[in-house]
Amino acid sequence: MEYSTLIKRLEALHPLALGQMPTPLAPLPRLSQALGGPELWIKRDDLTGLGLGGNKVRKLTFLLAEALRQQADIIMTTGAQQSNHARQTAAAAAMLGLPCVLVLRGNPPLEPEGNYLLDVLLNAEVRWAGERSALKTLYSEAETLRQEGHNPYVITYGGSSALGACGFVAAIAELSAQTRALGFEFDAIVFASSSGGTQAGMAVGARALELPTRVVGISIAEPAPAFTQDLEKLSNETIALLNLDFSLKSEDFDVRDAYLGQGYGIVTDVEREAIRLAARTEGLFVDPVYTGRALGGLLDLVKRGEFTSTQRVLFWHTGGAPALFAYAKDLMG
Ligand SMILES: *Cc1c(COP(=O)(O)O)cnc(C)c1O
Repeated sequence: MEYSTLIKRLEALHPLALGQMPTPLAPLPRLSQALGGPELWIKRDDLTGLGLGGNKVRKLTFLLAEALRQQADIIMTTGAQQSNHARQTAAAAAMLGLPCVLVLRGNPPLEPEGNYLLDVLLNAEVRWAGERSALKTLYSEAETLRQEGHNPYVITYGGSSALGACGFVAAIAELSAQTRALGFEFDAIVFASSSGGTQAGMAVGARALELPTRVVGISIAEPAPAFTQDLEKLSNETIALLNLDFSLKSEDFDVRDAYLGQGYGIVTDVEREAIRLAARTEGLFVDPVYTGRALGGLLDLVKRGEFTSTQRVLFWHTGGAPALFAYAKDLMG
């Protein structure tokens, strides 16, 4: 479909202006040279601005527009203790002058660090799920608030609903405007994929605009067979919301699950080496949970010959660097 038609469909949802978009698109010459090709570029969604930035700002532009339409008086979401999504949601709520309740997994740490420290500074009220499921606790806390007469707007895990995924349909439209100006298309986009909104939105956007670009998600937490099922469902809901005339199947999603290691948030040499290489070659920070794992995966794919030396590959930086400050022990030595 035409670029302008897709933009009109997205604008009909009235996204808010929460961050700094378009984000920069830049080459990574020293990292590309260190690897001996392909030509690596970066999309700087770590620089979306609001509350230290990250990919969730894009989803929140659509989600919080709906919260305002529903006249919500509290914004709620959930995540891990070091959730970037929770921190960006707290920042967006602060910017809109709305209170924010975060239900975080597990128990409070001895001292606030990294993203959790920022949640506190952003004046979010943190409720700990303890041994309970964080998502179930989120919904039960929301119900309690409703009974007390509030009208909370509840954002699911990672902001990965169809409406949230529209942020990444818009992101692909943004990228296509940038590549049109540059005069080339990327052969592949590689990024950290976890709750699915980023990958579902990118896949829908790339298909809608008929881009020749492969969308390759490095799975952070889930094996590919289950995750591609989730992506099929979420992308088709997104397609329906935008009234597009195609559908996607689980086989249409390229998910790499070789880098799950010992699980979510557990740092191994894959992340450590990627963090150091990006810092030393480009002065660029990737994080221990998401972008370090994704860049580590990309480095491994390059080593295994997944791309030719002349192809152009875009590493989509989804943010997360505030978590570095909560992982000092895992990153030193
Ligand atoms: C949430 C997050 C992701 C994953 O995005 P999803 O839409 O949840 O798949 C990747 N990187 C960072 C830094 C994140 O915070």
